[in-house]
Amino acid sequence: MTTLQSIQARTGQPLGEPLAASTPGQIDDAARAAAAAFAGWSASSGSSRAALLRALAAALEAEREGLVALADEETALGPVRLSGELDRTAFQLRRFADIAERGLPFATTDDPAVAGPPPAGHPAMVRLRVPLGPVAMFSASNFPFAFSVLGGDTASALAAGCPVVVKAHSGHLLLSNRVFGLVQQVLKAQQLPAGLVGLVQGGGNDVGVQLVRHPAMAAGAFTGSTRGGAALQAEANARPRPIPFYGELGSTNPVVALPAVLAARGAELASTLAGSIALGCGQFCTSPGVIVLLNDPASDALVQQLTTALATQKPHAMLTPGMRSAFDVGVTHMLAAGAQPLLHEAGSDQAPRPFLAQVDAVDFIARPGLREEVFGPSSLVVRAASVAQALEVLQAVGGSLTVTLWGADEDSADNRALVRGATAIAGRVLFAGVPTGVAVTAAQQHGGPWPSSTQPMSTSVGDAAIERFLRPVALQDAPAWLLARNGQPC
Ligand code: NAP
Repeated sequence: MTTLQSIQARTGQPLGEPLAASTPGQIDDAARAAAAAFAGWSASSGSSRAALLRALAAALEAEREGLVALADEETALGPVRLSGELDRTAFQLRRFADIAERGLPFATTDDPAVAGPPPAGHPAMVRLRVPLGPVAMFSASNFPFAFSVLGGDTASALAAGCPVVVKAHSGHLLLSNRVFGLVQQVLKAQQLPAGLVGLVQGGGNDVGVQLVRHPAMAAGAFTGSTRGGAALQAEANARPRPIPFYGELGSTNPVVALPAVLAARGAELASTLAGSIALGCGQFCTSPGVIVLLNDPASDALVQQLTTALATQKPHAMLTPGMRSAFDVGVTHMLAAGAQPLLHEAGSDQAPRPFLAQVDAVDFIARPGLREEVFGPSSLVVRAASVAQALEVLQAVGGSLTVTLWGADEDSADNRALVRGATAIAGRVLFAGVPTGVAVTAAQQHGGPWPSSTQPMSTSVGDAAIERFLRPVALQDAPAWLLARNGQPC
């Protein structure tokens, strides 16, 4: 039997008893149980889905104290952040409950018959959407509640009518198992099949690969690194029957700060930016990893202010020992690629010190090694000679969850070009504030072009996340009894 061990993030010491890794037979059982639960759940009403999602939110809240304490031991993210994240998770579950209850998954487009020859004449058509089927869901390391067992992927998949099999993240195994225990209690209380939500776990890549390859799986939902997401997307595509794979991946989130705004508010913006770079020890997919500045005295001042502000930050322990060493490797690669260090101090075994470096736009564009995400409190200042060169920097980034434009408040040719350049590569463009923090709203778009996600047309945060798990079907000349179901699958 392969065993797994949870690790205390602050000390690197083992936490709790070893856990058993899922065997191939157990992964097969979880996938089959999800497939068996699919028929009933896909035909369920909006109110049944809402009842489950609300009960799951209430279960999380009822166990808040113990869950937050355990999450804190496993991740070192701190009780305040984790309690807020639990609130967000419950909010998401209730939001998707409302969406299901309002009937969004059952919305139809009614196109009555038109008499006469085609192309104007046509039969009666109704377009509706059906749930895809069981979803293989990969939890993120850095959001142990909001992107984990009961996170946005699970909430939106259940609201769409899809069962879920969760691949627990190795960085918070005990928490994943405890939350999964709550899920099973709620399913039992609501007399729903236990297989509606499954959980598998294991070190190495075999467990996740077997899950994505399983014939019962109809989609993948992944939050993690670009490398891991790319490998699992390749698995999804290599199946005899390929399946959609929604991967939310790593990102460098450029911030373009124009001289006029820096001249007016440079000190304040430097301190805001430093806080965002070091927030949660930089372990955010939306962390600002690239700061694009035009050559100007106000930019020179910002670099100094940012270096000073960042030096006062005290990042806490990273999520896992692996991430801690990956941070040092990433910094070393960046220096080897030619980045000039502005702030580079040795950290402790668990907690790194913030890293800041600078590079010319020409080098940034020429050297791919400078454009890689360094997961942790790290950022790279890129100095551009003109707006045109700043646009080339954005183009070189290629794809990002966010781009932030500070100082584009007037309608001008340059600002239009910057907005065009930003929207070309990002899912979300900010004109104020910092990219860390992703609001759960109707208009949210969390997902940009490669390498920030595998499906830039979809979002993993916000109401539209449900769309990923619904497939359109057109019914032609459907019988009255079927139309009377108003879009609810049989
Ligand atoms: P990761 O190493 O890619 O791991 C994510 C999950 O995938 C884990 O369950 C991992 O298994 C599994 N996995 C990774 N590679 C695999 C492979 N080749 N085959 C099968 N399974 C594989 O990601 P991470 O280091 O935990 O998270 C940090 C990254 O996530 C950063 O790049 C960050 O930017 C990104 N992130 C993105 C978002 C977003 O919304 N776009 C949000 C949060 C984080 P194990 O648990 O066994 O390692």
